[in-house]
Amino acid sequence: MEGMRAVTDVEGVGPQVASRLKALGILNEIDLLFHRPLRYEDRTRITPMNRVRPETRAQIEGRVMHQEVVQRRRRMLLVTLADDSGQVTLRYFRFYPSQRRMFQVGNRIRCFGEVRFGPQGFEMAHPECRVIGDDASEPLPKHLTPIYPVTQGLARATLTRVIDQAVERVGRGRLGLADPLDGMEGLGALVQAILTIHRPGPGEDLDALVDGHHPAVRRLAIEELLAHHLALARLNRARARQRALKLGSGEALRDRLLERIGFTPTGAQRRVSEEILADLQSDRPMRRLLQGDVGSGKTLVAANALLAAAASGRQAAIVAPTEILAEQHFNTFTEWLEPLGLNLVWLAGKVKGKARRQALEALAGQADIAIGTHALFQEGVEFRDLALVVVDEQHRFGVHQRLALAAKGSSGDQIPHQLVMTATPIPRTLAMTAYAGLDVSVIDELPPGRKPVTTVAISQGRREEIVERMRRTLSEGKQAYWVCPLIEESDLLEARAAESTAEELGQALPGFSVGLVHGRMKPAEKQQVMARFSAGDIDLLVATTVIEVGVDVPNASVMMIENAERLGLSQLHQLRGRVGRGSAQAACVLIYKAPLGDTARARLEVMRETTDGFIIAEKDLELRGPGEVLGTRQTGMLRFRVADLGRDAELLEPVKTLAGRLDREGADVIIERWIGEAEQFVDV
Ligand code: ADP
Ligand code: MG
Repeated sequence: MEGMRAVTDVEGVGPQVASRLKALGILNEIDLLFHRPLRYEDRTRITPMNRVRPETRAQIEGRVMHQEVVQRRRRMLLVTLADDSGQVTLRYFRFYPSQRRMFQVGNRIRCFGEVRFGPQGFEMAHPECRVIGDDASEPLPKHLTPIYPVTQGLARATLTRVIDQAVERVGRGRLGLADPLDGMEGLGALVQAILTIHRPGPGEDLDALVDGHHPAVRRLAIEELLAHHLALARLNRARARQRALKLGSGEALRDRLLERIGFTPTGAQRRVSEEILADLQSDRPMRRLLQGDVGSGKTLVAANALLAAAASGRQAAIVAPTEILAEQHFNTFTEWLEPLGLNLVWLAGKVKGKARRQALEALAGQADIAIGTHALFQEGVEFRDLALVVVDEQHRFGVHQRLALAAKGSSGDQIPHQLVMTATPIPRTLAMTAYAGLDVSVIDELPPGRKPVTTVAISQGRREEIVERMRRTLSEGKQAYWVCPLIEESDLLEARAAESTAEELGQALPGFSVGLVHGRMKPAEKQQVMARFSAGDIDLLVATTVIEVGVDVPNASVMMIENAERLGLSQLHQLRGRVGRGSAQAACVLIYKAPLGDTARARLEVMRETTDGFIIAEKDLELRGPGEVLGTRQTGMLRFRVADLGRDAELLEPVKTLAGRLDREGADVIIERWIGEAEQFVDV
């Protein structure tokens, strides 16, 4: 046994490939082994040419009978391949001289590709081909061929070659894989599971391997869930030593705030505020998640917590993931808290020069409450006495930002209390595992007088009608959003789509002011547009999904969402939550492109039927799977490689049993293998 190597030690991995692998989260051989195929191809046999079927992928082998380059609508290379049973045409629209040489008449070729029915009978477009020896004795693979998910800039062939080497070493027993679970609770050997996943024999249940119900995949999933369980337990033991400052209740200040805000807190707001205040009065650091649907009034609850810190002469900070959102908090808190005699400080990335120096000085000195973006937690920012950190819309923060944030204000075993707030409801089935390290408070009641948003779905084909409807809305003096999401990760394309929509609507709706906000604009520009919308200077705001989070403009009462069929339920729910905050009846129009697939249809149906965030979250889990529900894609939190909380929920119990049976050494092996240096990320 030689032990595990870093990817950079694997043959054929230079700095370029290593950096692409890193983008997939692959740093060493173990990571390679845990990179599961998306699907498999059967190249273990040759299909006779008279037995190929259209719309299937097949491997054929035969002799080149003919090749020619023809000029139809496009130039193309046509090759006729024949075996004893029949013939198949290969068609290439892009081709190189080397290919023409490969298809020299008389050569024996082995080919894999998708079969179609064409003008000359069966054909394959752009199949993968290679010349094989004349005696036709070239061996076929004994196992199915894995097709791995790749990332931009990493060729599938390269990735496959690199993973192959690691699998090869496992197969020969050269890669040291300690296996403390082997034989426990009916589990098999880890090595066997890995080999089955990467090199299944022709008899394996491929569907089960792909969807994860195969025992080999479950073997890995159990180990991974166990690793998280063990790591969390270890963290909790370490945390038991940590202490925080005991804060007062801030009652006098809170009462004065209530007099100012002009509304009565809901029962739910009172209850969760009490839960939080009780935590703050203990020297055990608070670690609490506040869940409340969009518009449920989390800001007031946060204010109560901030006041408890300020009343005790300590500092508190509230951070938001975007500048728009942070500034909105700053405005609210300036109005609510400054009159109480508190010293507020604003810090965001755009605060530069003298203003920044003054902000830093205040944070190290007289400031009571800091409000801003993650700029508050960058190097060089020092607090005098930070006792509480409130993180708004926490799922929007990257893992590293959250870590930096937790570290601020810590000294020795002393850390600030933490309150994280989210409007993304977590289905109960997931909350336990996803937020295992946190106490949870839920605001399960909306402020009175909210009318549920009416939701309709309309096909994009009826665009004129939709624009007409918008004209009527605006004529009534209402404001509206028009969201143009693109699903590709390109915010450039998304910005362009929004730009052209804004232009089109500007022309179609003369007399109304149409604004535009998208992710490629400078923060200051975005801010300015949002401020004008807030002030009523803009009637219709065309936007990308940048407005998804937390923006509060009560007079906006209509939300149009284009491409609604391509968005997930949580995202639709967040967007819809931007309206219905004022007294007017609000509406949400989901514009979709027909025909709808089953999942998309089901989603739009759910949106029409309910405005309850929890029901929506449960449905979202059903329709999409937990990775997306929890937003792990963006944040890297709970990044499971093999396990899937939706699919594997019933593995959580056996995992607890296993955890109880493992000794310390076994536990260390498993944590190290699955989590390694990322241990700190296990924590939310
Ligand atoms: P979110 O939970 O989405 O952050 P906010 O705190 O922004 O919600 O509150 C949404 C709106 O409801 C704000 O305009 C806020 O002033 C108002 N609001 C909050 N609590 C109440 C309440 N108890 N009664 C009436 N209005 C409230
Ligand atoms: Mg909010």
